[in-house]
Amino acid sequence: MLIFKKSSDIIHHINQLKKKRKDIGFVPTMGALHAGHLSLIDTAKKKSNIVVCSIFVNPTQFNEPDDLKKYPRTVEKDTEMLLKVGCDILFLPEAAEIYPVGLDTTVDIDLGHLDKVLEGKHRKGHFAGVMQVVKRLLDIVQPHQLFMGQKDFQQFTIIDHMLKTLNIPTKLVVCPIIREEDGLAMSSRNVLLPEKDRKIVPLIHKTLEYIKKNLSKKTPDEMIKEGLQKLDIPEFEVEYLAIVDGTTLLPVKSFEDSNYIVALTAVRVGDVRLIDNVIIKNK
Ligand code: AMP
Repeated sequence: MLIFKKSSDIIHHINQLKKKRKDIGFVPTMGALHAGHLSLIDTAKKKSNIVVCSIFVNPTQFNEPDDLKKYPRTVEKDTEMLLKVGCDILFLPEAAEIYPVGLDTTVDIDLGHLDKVLEGKHRKGHFAGVMQVVKRLLDIVQPHQLFMGQKDFQQFTIIDHMLKTLNIPTKLVVCPIIREEDGLAMSSRNVLLPEKDRKIVPLIHKTLEYIKKNLSKKTPDEMIKEGLQKLDIPEFEVEYLAIVDGTTLLPVKSFEDSNYIVALTAVRVGDVRLIDNVIIKNK
């Protein structure tokens, strides 16, 4: 596995690969890798000749300074994991490589309501930071395909919108959520959970699955009410539980409203904020 720290070096190397007609697959991450990240690498390997993974804890997408400070950083272990799964190139930039002085990296596109609901409502400026870093990384890596997880549902929806709006010739491939045995969606933040909280957080996924199982019996509003009751335990602070159209991210009033419906939630457990979602209808 080749490791690059300088943008100019990886750009040069990728240009050489492109001259040899290699198909580049790209997996951007913030590190503290787990099986969810590795599943993206695995899919990327199956669908492209060369897999590039980046690890960069992007400061501009953190709306809480403390969250950025606490974010787990395990670069050595990550590098070993990437080696083992056969990643070809690791891009490990410092902030100055991504945001060089004098380069305007902001992405100014109209997202309509896409960044105003759900995560966007609770994490001001988060998606502006996500678009900024992904656009900059795409400019550097110039991949044919970009691999992202369904875990961050609104994130891939917004990045898809950005790719289309800016006419970026990269295809987005969305990969399913990898979970722990008890259903908890894998996340780099899970290691920050104290043991007592780790035991109760599978309730988040259980609640989403309950909604999926019972959707034909009741209205979305009734299911949200029931879901909130299930999540109403002293350890949880639910930021939102929503049932929306998977494309517009707008709430559905009936399960007949759309052919593509997803239930999403964000829950604070102590200092840790967890998100999860389940596609409840897709046909
Ligand atoms: P992050 O390092 O959290 O920025 O995530 C990097 C990529 O991995 C994003 O596209 C995430 O959606 C994806 N990802 C994170 N957790 C999971 C998971 N449990 N299953 C599948 N993909 C995931």
